[in-house]
Amino acid sequence: MKKILVTGGAGLIGSHLCEKLLNLGNEVICLDNFFTGEKQNILHLLENPYFEVIRHDVEKPITLEVDEIYNLASPASPIHYQKDPVKTIRTNVLGAINMLDLAKKTNSKILQASTSEIYGDPEIHPQKEEYNGNVNPIGPRACYDEGKRCVETLFFDYHREYKVNIKVVRIFNTYGPKMVPNDGRVVSNFIVQALKDENITIYGDGSQTRSFCYVDDLVDGLIKMMESNEIGPINLGNPQEISILDLAKLIIRLTNSKSKIVFKKLPKDDPKKRKPDITKAKEKLKWRPKVDIETGLIKTINYFRSKA
Ligand code: NAD
Ligand code: UDP
Repeated sequence: MKKILVTGGAGLIGSHLCEKLLNLGNEVICLDNFFTGEKQNILHLLENPYFEVIRHDVEKPITLEVDEIYNLASPASPIHYQKDPVKTIRTNVLGAINMLDLAKKTNSKILQASTSEIYGDPEIHPQKEEYNGNVNPIGPRACYDEGKRCVETLFFDYHREYKVNIKVVRIFNTYGPKMVPNDGRVVSNFIVQALKDENITIYGDGSQTRSFCYVDDLVDGLIKMMESNEIGPINLGNPQEISILDLAKLIIRLTNSKSKIVFKKLPKDDPKKRKPDITKAKEKLKWRPKVDIETGLIKTINYFRSKA
C-alpha cells in the first residue's frame, strides 16, 4: 500500500483524485487550507480508514512520511487567483519549494499540476510542449501564469540539482461535478445561470476558444503520469475545441433553459485560443480523453441540479 499526499485535495481535481487513489487501494492524505476547495467534496471519503485530512497551508513547511506527492494546491479560477495575487504567487512558489523539499527528504515521487496558462495568449495553435509561451509578466493573470512557470523551473532545478523524481503535467481547462457554483469559471457560471434562467454572461464576443476536459479523464492522466518514467512537461487536456459562444448555446440546449445571452467586457489578457496538442500524452502515457463535451456537461449539469 502506497502512502500518497494530495495537496489541494479538497478542490475539483484533487477530490476526484483522492477518491480514485483510495479506490486503487492506496492510503491517501489530503492537505488543504480550504481556500477554494470544500469539505463537502471529501465528506464521503472520511469514513475510509485509509483517508486523512490535514488543514494546512502549503506556504508553510510540513514533515510527513509519503511515497508520492501530487501538488495541486493553488486557486485555479481567474477571479480567485486574482483576489490576492501575492498570495497566489506565495502558494505556488513557496508551496512548490516546501513540497519539493519534502520529496527530497522522503525520496518520494512528486507531480506538479502545471497549466496551459504557461503558454499565455498563445501564438501557435494547438499548443505543443516545446512552445515557450506568450505571457505578459506584469498583467493581472501573471500572478498565476508566472507563479506556475517559476514552479516548473523549480521542479526541473530540483531534478537536475538534487535528482528529485519529478513529473510535470500542463493541465488544460478541466470541469466536472464538484465545481463550486460561485467559482467564476465559465462552465460553472454558465450552468448555474442556465439552471436559474438568468442571463448567460459572455465576456467579449464569445469567439475565444477553449478545449474542455472532463475531470475523470484528467485524473486518469495524472495517475498514468505518476506511474510512468516520464518527467514531462506533458500536456493533459481534451483537444475538442469550442468557442465560448457555442459553449453557451450548448449549455442552454442541454438545460432546456430560457436564458438569454448577454455580452460583457473581455478581461485583460484573456487568451484568444487554447487547444492542447496531446501527441506526447498519447505516445508516452497511452492516455487519451474518453468523455466528449456533451456527455461531460450532462453529468456536470445533473450534479448542479442535485445541489440546487
Ligand atoms: P480548485 O480551486 O478546485 O482546487 C484547488 C485546491 O487547492 C482547493 O481545495 C484549495 O482550497 C487548495 N488550496 C489553495 N491554496 C492553498 C494553499 N495555500 N494551501 C493548501 N491548499 C490550498 O482547483 P482545481 O481546478 O481542482 O485545480 C487543481 C490544480 O490544477 C491547481 O493547481 C490548478 O492550478 C491546476 N489546474 C487546473 C485547471 C482546471 O481547469 N481545473 C487547469 C490547469 C491547471
Ligand atoms: N468566460 C465568460 N463568461 C463567464 C466566465 C468566463 O465568457 O462567465 C470566458 C473567459 O473570459 C474566458 C473563458 O470563458 O475566455 C474561460 O474562462 P475561465 O475563467 O473558465 O478559464 P480560463 O480563462 O482560465 O481558461
